[in-house]
Amino acid sequence: MSTRVRVVAFVVAALAVGAGAAYLKFGRTTDEVSELLAEGSEKVLRERIRPSRGAPRVLVFALDGVGADAMEAVIRSGRARNISHLLGKPRPGEPGVYRHAYAVPGVLSILPSTTYAAWTSLFTGQPAGRTGVTGNEWFAREEDRFYAPAPVTVTQHTHALQVYSDQLMGTVTRVPTLYEQANVRAYVSLAALQRGADLVTIPDPKAFGPMVSAAAEGLDDDDEGSVSREVFEALDLGAVGSLLQSIRRRGVADLQVVYFPGVDLWTHAAPDPLRAQQAYVETAVDSAVGEVLAAYRRRNALKDTYVLFVADHGHTPVMDDDRHALGAEGDDEPPQVLRQAGFRVRPPELVVEDDEERGYQAVVAYQGAMAYVYLADRSACPRPDDRCDWRRPPRMHEDVLPVVRAYDAANRTGAGVAAMRGTLDLIFAREPRPFGQSAAPYQVWDGARLVPIAEYLRAHPRPDLLDLERRMAGLATGPYGNHAGDVLLLARTGMHLPLADRYYFSGRYHSWHGSPTDQDSRIPLIVAHPGGDGRRLRARVHAAAGARPTQLDITRVILSLLGR
Ligand SMILES: [Zn+2]
Repeated sequence: MSTRVRVVAFVVAALAVGAGAAYLKFGRTTDEVSELLAEGSEKVLRERIRPSRGAPRVLVFALDGVGADAMEAVIRSGRARNISHLLGKPRPGEPGVYRHAYAVPGVLSILPSTTYAAWTSLFTGQPAGRTGVTGNEWFAREEDRFYAPAPVTVTQHTHALQVYSDQLMGTVTRVPTLYEQANVRAYVSLAALQRGADLVTIPDPKAFGPMVSAAAEGLDDDDEGSVSREVFEALDLGAVGSLLQSIRRRGVADLQVVYFPGVDLWTHAAPDPLRAQQAYVETAVDSAVGEVLAAYRRRNALKDTYVLFVADHGHTPVMDDDRHALGAEGDDEPPQVLRQAGFRVRPPELVVEDDEERGYQAVVAYQGAMAYVYLADRSACPRPDDRCDWRRPPRMHEDVLPVVRAYDAANRTGAGVAAMRGTLDLIFAREPRPFGQSAAPYQVWDGARLVPIAEYLRAHPRPDLLDLERRMAGLATGPYGNHAGDVLLLARTGMHLPLADRYYFSGRYHSWHGSPTDQDSRIPLIVAHPGGDGRRLRARVHAAAGARPTQLDITRVILSLLGR
């Protein structure tokens, strides 16, 4: 599947919210689209919008895919005038301290460093094994159901659309959201998790329909560069345009999240991804930030508002070709290893309609640098027309270990699937547990046996994989840890490797993420207060979350700034 089609998968779904025309081109018009179009650019989520409480307010700019170094480069360039002006000059000799802001050093994302899992954790304060949202797509074995709010192995956009039409992320997120915990008037601009907020704004179809239709025609063309930056700007700036209308009509919220998904999508698609990303933030994002700040200033609300810049993950450039993109279909892709180990593999479809294909014994879900492999106890469903009971765990020796050994062999020698040779960094597996019990922590395959992560790292130091044991535990243990599979494959990747040695689980792109490396994992957490003092903000952050906060502390920091 081409890069273009993969890029389309999310863009179209997201833009469909604002423009039925683009969606119609892909022949997937649905009731949800019509419903959204009828409602226009604002959707009220509560019976009655909570009254505004007033100061102190919090305004969060959520930049998808903009890592800590990328954000710092933007600020240093001086070209993002609105952001630079808000922060003021850095204070020499005081790491992260600006005149009016504090940029917390060394903040790490959860694992996987991938969009849906990371945002859900950021806006709940809980790791993926507790939120239930372990990636851009995952298999909920207790429901025998595949979820793909941002499809990677599957091409259907139904769930991406339901994120906005039916608050899908609110349904699947198993812990309280930031908005529920804060219980103040909250607006969400385009962010996926909305449960507990008062309203969500999305791009206005009237303003962006024509542009999106033109872009959608371009997307049919398989030419390099046919996905233009304007498509993503339409998404990011369109949503902010709708938000400004809602502010004019209703006043500002006590808690506002402004989400920019377009910057991530553009980084995936742009041929020179990191440079393209920086330019996008310096222009498109910075101007949108300026517009929102101006709207607050006009209402005399800015001086009482804490302004945050956060992200879900960074980006690692990769090669946009079939060799480096580990796909979901075909004889030279990772699922073939499962077939050769004797498993019937679930077809890469959101819903398996064909009765004859429902007897699958293995499922894969892709997260860029990581892939989850879910296995059934295949002794209970041996015949092709048997449907496996996915509430039942697989067997360690008969189901899990044969798969681990098969991937290890494919990776070492190309056995079975020649194209897999040298593509994997680590293979994780763990003792299966029945649903209802907390899932066991992942262990690392050392070539002969599974060993605890800490023990493995003592024997094979990997300083490039940051805080691996703790972050893997957050993903894999807890009541929904089994949403991260029975076997987890980590692709070889990282900035320390030549471009030609980096791999990723997905269709073709110019950039991906998802790994425990610094480039994918280190995220900005900047707290600014217009006219405020950066040192005082540092003290506020430390008081709320300690000296070394992670992505999981951001909800806590926001609640503290709100005085909750
Ligand atoms: Zn993302």
